[in-house]
Amino acid sequence: MPARSGEIRARRLMRKLRISAWGLSAGFTGSDYGRAKVYGRQHLYPLNLLAPHRLGVDGFLFGMRATLLHGAGDVRVEQVPDAVLKHPSDAVVRILASTVCGSDLYPYQNGPGANGPVTIGHEIVGVVEEVGVEVRTVRPGDLVICPWAFSDGTCEFCREGLYTSCVNSSMFDLEPDVVGQAEATRVPLADGTLVRIPGEVDEALLPSLLTLADVFGTGFHAAACGAVKAGSTVTVIGDGAVGLLAVLSARLLGAGQIILMGRHKARTDLGRQFGATHVVADRGPEGIEAVRALTAGRGSQIVLEAAGARSAYDQALGVVRHGGVISRVGMPQYDEAPIGMASLFRHDIRLVGGAAPVRAYIERLLPDVLAGTIDPGKVFDVFTDLDGVPEAYRLMAGRQALKVLVKP
Ligand SMILES: [Zn+2]
Repeated sequence: MPARSGEIRARRLMRKLRISAWGLSAGFTGSDYGRAKVYGRQHLYPLNLLAPHRLGVDGFLFGMRATLLHGAGDVRVEQVPDAVLKHPSDAVVRILASTVCGSDLYPYQNGPGANGPVTIGHEIVGVVEEVGVEVRTVRPGDLVICPWAFSDGTCEFCREGLYTSCVNSSMFDLEPDVVGQAEATRVPLADGTLVRIPGEVDEALLPSLLTLADVFGTGFHAAACGAVKAGSTVTVIGDGAVGLLAVLSARLLGAGQIILMGRHKARTDLGRQFGATHVVADRGPEGIEAVRALTAGRGSQIVLEAAGARSAYDQALGVVRHGGVISRVGMPQYDEAPIGMASLFRHDIRLVGGAAPVRAYIERLLPDVLAGTIDPGKVFDVFTDLDGVPEAYRLMAGRQALKVLVKP
């Protein structure tokens, strides 16, 4: 659309002019500039400028667009100060693709409380625009995946792959200038967090690459924690993006029987494409009965719970086999649930899983995505730009969209 591309050109030109203006006003010389190839064009960028140099010049005169949560059911795309480096370990990433997560829907439905308005969004693929002086693993111009949790990559928890428990851990939305549904964002701990995608990448792969920032890694975490292996019988509870990608993950790990519990036919059809061998649409006692009928009356050795509701936990207890494992990755909407004699203890049922350290799985899953042998990006069924973000929330909250891809 000409109007849109004209607007993009104008914005790029403004950005270029403004960068030259900073350079001159701050007394930068040619040697202070690094050359970055962004969107296929050469731009001059002053390297490692700190925030105070930049905010006064562009924060309010120019700025960028980002999504803010104002109240329950009220997200708005607004002009905010440009993303800039704050710490030597930061990067600034220009966002190529972002999305709305099922976990964004909880603050969306409940509002930001007394702290609002707050930034929102935490899954991105983008191009590195600037890096701080300490950053070694990515350079301006690199295409990167940014997982939902930031980590230093060096502490004892990171070294064992539990990036989400990093001693320096941070997340999107916790700071006002770190935002996923926006034109750009600051990314803290760039070396430990960002994963560079090597070589030329076909734009058609963007949706699949974006799933590695959260939903695919989260589904894979469920399967990995459940120790799915060749021939396993697996039941997946939940037909959202994470549940469907838990199905794909179980298939990648060689599961023999994959039973998907979900009621939305379009979604469970995609689940079959991803590898589900059976679909159970019933819930409650009928759903439990159906799963037991498919498993010689014994139940499922491995249950991947990808919904987060208390009813999903109860469903998992109902379908799990004696000696089996329930692996949870759905963000729990409850603090209390049965773990005693009649539920977990009597038949040695184990409860595993938790917040998914998706950074740990990107390198494992990336080659199959780049080769096109798997297509996790099929979970995106609605595509929009930043203007469409409020509608994206409405569609996802109403379960009219499975997952919305936002191209700023
Ligand atoms: Zn760490």
